[in-house]
Amino acid sequence: MCPQIEQTLKDVFGFASFRPQQREIIEDLLAGRDAFVLMPTGGGKSLCYQLPALHRPGVAIVVSPLISLMKDQVDALKAQGIKAACYNSALEAQEARQVLARLHGGELDLLYVAPERLMSEDFLGRLRELQIALFAIDEAHCVSQWGHDFRPEYIQLGRLRQKFPGIPLIALTATAEPHTRKDIIARLNLEKARCYLTSFDRPNIRYTVLEKKRPFNQLLDFLDGRREEAGIIYCLSRKRVEQLTAKLQEAGFAAASYHAGLSGEERSRVQEAFLRDDLPLIVATVAFGMGIDKSNIRYVVHHDVPKNIEGYYQETGRAGRDGLNSEALLLFGMGDVALARGLIDNSQNEERRRIENHKLAAMVGFAQATGCRRRVLLGYFGETLAADCGNCDTCLDPPEMVEVTEDARKALSCIYRVNQRFGLGHVVDVLRGSKNQRLLELGHHRLSTYGIGADRDKDYWQALLRHLIHLGYVEQDVGNFSVLKLHQSSRPLLRGEATLQMGRPRTKPAPTAEAG
Ligand code: ADP
Ligand code: ZN
Repeated sequence: MCPQIEQTLKDVFGFASFRPQQREIIEDLLAGRDAFVLMPTGGGKSLCYQLPALHRPGVAIVVSPLISLMKDQVDALKAQGIKAACYNSALEAQEARQVLARLHGGELDLLYVAPERLMSEDFLGRLRELQIALFAIDEAHCVSQWGHDFRPEYIQLGRLRQKFPGIPLIALTATAEPHTRKDIIARLNLEKARCYLTSFDRPNIRYTVLEKKRPFNQLLDFLDGRREEAGIIYCLSRKRVEQLTAKLQEAGFAAASYHAGLSGEERSRVQEAFLRDDLPLIVATVAFGMGIDKSNIRYVVHHDVPKNIEGYYQETGRAGRDGLNSEALLLFGMGDVALARGLIDNSQNEERRRIENHKLAAMVGFAQATGCRRRVLLGYFGETLAADCGNCDTCLDPPEMVEVTEDARKALSCIYRVNQRFGLGHVVDVLRGSKNQRLLELGHHRLSTYGIGADRDKDYWQALLRHLIHLGYVEQDVGNFSVLKLHQSSRPLLRGEATLQMGRPRTKPAPTAEAG
């Protein structure tokens, strides 16, 4: 349709051919049509608006949420000889004036703008006097409360479509489950846009979830033989990042920390070293990785459970961009889930709490899945796999299902007998007939459920109680010392009208998952 775009692809961007759907999207924009693009990270979204920006008269306006990302993109474009600039609050007054002068002088092909800048009356007024090639809204999920990274300043972007009729608008995101997707389209008024949905599957990434237990040892086992490989370990807090880095260094690993509490200088030093392959291992909070383009990351470990599947997918997705086999390991601990839930419940906004709890529950569901992990993951994004993937822990070694109806009943009665006023540890102690002082003082050794589970070990009972919690039969009152309470849905189980099975928890990878 437009032979010059092939030439530009080769001459300016240096690529031999288009990736799936890039051509169609570009041709849409060139024809003046809107597009909504859902493509995984690394799929090649930027080209979809950068290339047509060079072929349509006027300047392309690109909205991006993070100043650092903007700068990286603009630097990369300049290096390719493309006339690009950014306009944001990080600029000195002098620099800002220069950018505006170039804008008005028609000297720019692309201008990256922060959303609040773009939607200011002053800036919109300027744009009305100029020829505009297209609008591109990157990280479009930021407009949705349902997205995991809502940014209020994105809301205003909804006015763009009406304000500039006739100028094509493209919205792009790497993370949007069906609900968020609909919300983005509605909020940006993109009902007429063509939707491009590429598969989110990353077949070369192997997903493994282990029940978190003595995590440092689990990590050492995992890292054994991977010392030279590039990898990232994500932790929930800065403190955990620091602690883990120290322990890894002590154990002889070349590891460094990365989190938002470090100086900008230190952060760039660590990131540069990692990109240059001088430093194999980074321990980080989720602050690390946005916009980093390193193809040979061989593994991503989540030391703590992520808050939602969007984050998990995005972070694990940094592994294996080169298409070679890579690992995604999650150490799943119920304590971390309780912690995350506590943080959510602290939030003031009730709507937010509801959404985040829902997302956390989906994450827990993924970790607890006994079927193909990839199915659960992709299913969350509205995608269905034709067959089980054969490259996740549950496919490679299906968990053994054990019949736990009778034991579940014992556990439920025990919670009832201690008047639903004690936490998980104590309930396990009563079940196992522990002789600890506090238990004896409470007189709990005289309960009918005392010692009825002595035939099973502590780990088993903990896992079973967690299973009951995940399934909603038992509630853990986070605001009240994590006391266990029966939910009414547990009644059929207690009365013997329902049965229960549980996948045997695994703390070590399946032998087959280790090979290869
Ligand atoms: P996204 O924004 O979707 O995460 P990018 O636009 O940053 O992805 O592209 C990811 C990588 O793929 C970049 O290194 C980019 O240069 C490369 N890329 C994009 N399109 C092509 C193509 N047609 N051929 C080869 N490489 C490409
Ligand atoms: Zn699978």
